Amino acid sequence: MSFDCVIRSGTCITASDTFRADVGIRNGKIAAIGTDLSGTRVIDAAGKYVMPGAVDTHTHLDMPFGGTVAKDDFETGTIAAAFGGTTAVVDFCIQSRGQSLQQAADTWHAKAEGKAVVDYGFHIAITDMTDAVLAEMKTMIHAGYPSFKVFMVYDFRVSDTVLMQALTQAGEHGGLVCVHAENNDVVTSLIHKHLSEGKTAPRYHALSRPPLAEAEATGRACKLAQITGGPLFVVHLTCKAALQEVKRARRAGASVMAETCPQYLLLSQDNYEEPGFDGAKYVMSPPLRPKENQAPLWQGLASGDLVSVATDHCPFDFHGQKDMGADDFSRIPNGAPGIEPRLALMHEFGVNAGRFALNKLVALCSTNPAKAFGLYPHKGSLAIGADADIVVFDPDKNVTLSTSVLHENVDYTPYEGVQVTGWPVATLSRGEVVCMDGRLEAKPGRGQFIRRGAPSFL
Ligand SMILES: [Zn+2]
Repeated sequence: MSFDCVIRSGTCITASDTFRADVGIRNGKIAAIGTDLSGTRVIDAAGKYVMPGAVDTHTHLDMPFGGTVAKDDFETGTIAAAFGGTTAVVDFCIQSRGQSLQQAADTWHAKAEGKAVVDYGFHIAITDMTDAVLAEMKTMIHAGYPSFKVFMVYDFRVSDTVLMQALTQAGEHGGLVCVHAENNDVVTSLIHKHLSEGKTAPRYHALSRPPLAEAEATGRACKLAQITGGPLFVVHLTCKAALQEVKRARRAGASVMAETCPQYLLLSQDNYEEPGFDGAKYVMSPPLRPKENQAPLWQGLASGDLVSVATDHCPFDFHGQKDMGADDFSRIPNGAPGIEPRLALMHEFGVNAGRFALNKLVALCSTNPAKAFGLYPHKGSLAIGADADIVVFDPDKNVTLSTSVLHENVDYTPYEGVQVTGWPVATLSRGEVVCMDGRLEAKPGRGQFIRRGAPSFL
């Protein structure tokens, strides 16, 4: 029996097990896991890890923000993702005022169509809740868009009433509500205060959005989840105080999950003090935090209170986009790149640093986000019958991160000069080699929309 492709002699790593095996692929699916398999194409993985492709459930490709647009579109962004070992992304469609949720989805489908090299799904960000939109949530859940997002901050934020409505509706129909949790009144008044005092530098972005503003909103969202019984997913959790709110809710039995991102584990508020305007590179919301927040986040990953690591990839060029806020931090486009190095960074600073095992790396970057957002068991799984979305990872490859190494379409990386040992060397999507040894083999447009199923609670 011959396979279309065999990944031979690697060390297979799943969220729960580690074993030596060949992986046989047929018709885009994992068809066999065994020994001495033969195939039309053979990828030698001796001395390397074979893992389910990483799943990034928080990206912003081709996203408009503050009069500009994130630099990576679905072509460049998914290419960078694939080079980093990520085989599925879930991006955010943002509803415009007056739009139906399907119209929002259609806008993003048009952005992705013909461009993506790996598979993609969409969360729907609700910015204009009406009775019709509330009813449409049910339709969208069953059409493969089971997760929604609401913002508690920005002009397009929602009220607590709307958050409760969304939680209730998602709870009744098997959906999930993601929340960007920051207290809008705190943030807007501190921005106003700083600007009126002539404090316009990037560091004041962080000082206008203190950890307690995030913790307050996180705690409120968690309590609304408890009151309604609805399922909540706190995105990009950054600090100890917010994590305590999530832990409290989980201990109380609420359906609350949370993710963090590499930037909150590895970078800190000190980065805003870099010379000149360089601090703008790290202007994102929520902002980077004082260093003492990092250890609690790592502990939250180890304890399972933080279920996954996503990137919040939202890249803007330092020259030509970030500088829109040269005289006013509040005009700096919010966001930073990170879609490509996530797996390698988590391997370096999680596994190599002794913070957790390889299986936990797979859980945090692949299996858990796939489960939480309804992609499992097609994605996030190295098992017979799953999509052959696979990354071959060389644990001995040394890489110094730099824009010259990365494929992100942006003129800087927040991780410039960071050294890692361990890097993805081959990425397969539904059995097709997308990239191998630094070369792109797949054509844009091969990536498919993923109709997702029901989210699981972790
Ligand atoms: Zn985001």
